[in-house]
Amino acid sequence: MRLLIIEDEAKTARFLKKGLGEASFVVDVASNGVDGLEFARNVDFDLIILDIMLPGLDGWEVLEGLRHAGRTTQVLFLTARDAVHEKVRAFELGADDYLVKPFAFSELLARVRSRLRRVPARPQSTVCTADLEIDLLRHRATRAGQRLELTTKEFLLLSLLARRAGEVLSRTVIAEAVWDMNFDCDTNVVDVSVRRLRSKVDDPFGSKLIHTVRGAGYVLEAD
Ligand code: CA
Repeated sequence: MRLLIIEDEAKTARFLKKGLGEASFVVDVASNGVDGLEFARNVDFDLIILDIMLPGLDGWEVLEGLRHAGRTTQVLFLTARDAVHEKVRAFELGADDYLVKPFAFSELLARVRSRLRRVPARPQSTVCTADLEIDLLRHRATRAGQRLELTTKEFLLLSLLARRAGEVLSRTVIAEAVWDMNFDCDTNVVDVSVRRLRSKVDDPFGSKLIHTVRGAGYVLEAD
């Protein structure tokens, strides 16, 4: 994880760099807003710790410039300015967190770690089990390289089973996920759809992927 500190007070910058370095982060430091923005635009940082009162460009301008350049890097303001309207402005400009100086290093570290846990995972775009491959973005499924011609519901059903491969899914869970409704009474529609899906996904091929678990539901897994 790589962090950028934009801080003009040398002592604070050194202290932060040392502490965050000891916590296993790779840390770069910029001592003014112009260098900081330049750095932040051109390097993929996981998080930026940004002071407000800076020479060159102030923290507001750095954040604005960064967002203007399309950079969504997380920004934590670390500043002596503690007025509520300044905190509000920071969040409105797209800051992710705000910590007021003087600060406890342990709190800063906890906040940095917490922010970095929240970095959204890249959405999974393909799911594979054995020779079955599902492209979730393009809504295509292939088995052994052969395109499967599926209806929308069949595709949803297959991708649900494949995303949770190895896990037995009950008819109720499947009905809710694929048909978006509660089937208290009749989950027969699930059985019918699974049968149709099997005729396309399993029957033409040597090995079966979709299995019935008696009394429990269905599971997709390679034999
Ligand atoms: Ca400052």
